[in-house]
Amino acid sequence: MTATIAETIAANLADVRAKIAKAARAANRDPAAITLIAVAKMHDEEAVQAALAAGQTAFGENRVQEAKAKYPALKAAHPALDLHLIGPLQTNKARDALALFDAIHTLDRESLAETLGPEIKRAGSAPKLFVQVNTGEEPQKAGVAPKDALAFIARCREHHGLPVTGLMCIPPAQDTPAPHFALLVKLAREAGLSDLSMGMSGDYETAIRLGATHVRVGTAIFGARG
Ligand SMILES: *Cc1c(COP(=O)(O)O)cnc(C)c1O
Repeated sequence: MTATIAETIAANLADVRAKIAKAARAANRDPAAITLIAVAKMHDEEAVQAALAAGQTAFGENRVQEAKAKYPALKAAHPALDLHLIGPLQTNKARDALALFDAIHTLDRESLAETLGPEIKRAGSAPKLFVQVNTGEEPQKAGVAPKDALAFIARCREHHGLPVTGLMCIPPAQDTPAPHFALLVKLAREAGLSDLSMGMSGDYETAIRLGATHVRVGTAIFGARG
């Protein structure tokens, strides 16, 4: 007997939640302090519906365009739906992003901070904001360099009036993730930030052990992307 896609997603979610709880308890942390973001990029609205039906409320997308097509009706039907942008944000999509997303994990450069400041003022409410740090200093990857992170966070807060609440990182694919997570934790502590967006399908338990407050899990919930 084959399970339906909805059954598979519900079972995967239960499994991920159990692993999150176990990793949290092993680190003497409260599982309720960890937000599971179900990353639904490249999966259709039915997949999101199935996760919603299984009690999931936080979702992640990496493209504004894709999210604009997928979520307006879902958000209207599910007011608790909490949508996180986890991919790069172009300045010309900032207004669209603010209209749709409850959190932006990819504040990564001065020009974006400069655009978001007035747009947030105009919108009248701010999303949760994470500064992305390029912990592996990979040239092709977005994010501020670790050595520039504290100055950039201060500039976001003081000059652009942005209520930054946390940091986000994507460790290099070939590296052991733990040192990258530890570096993010250290920078967050130095900046006085409490939110840590780190950990994906392959390493969210490690991230939780090190202090993640937001884990971004796609494949382990929705399966492989096309
Ligand atoms: C796609 C993506 C994820 C989810 O990755 P999985 O390995 O499928 O869990 C997490 N974070 C970011 C920034 C992503 O782009």
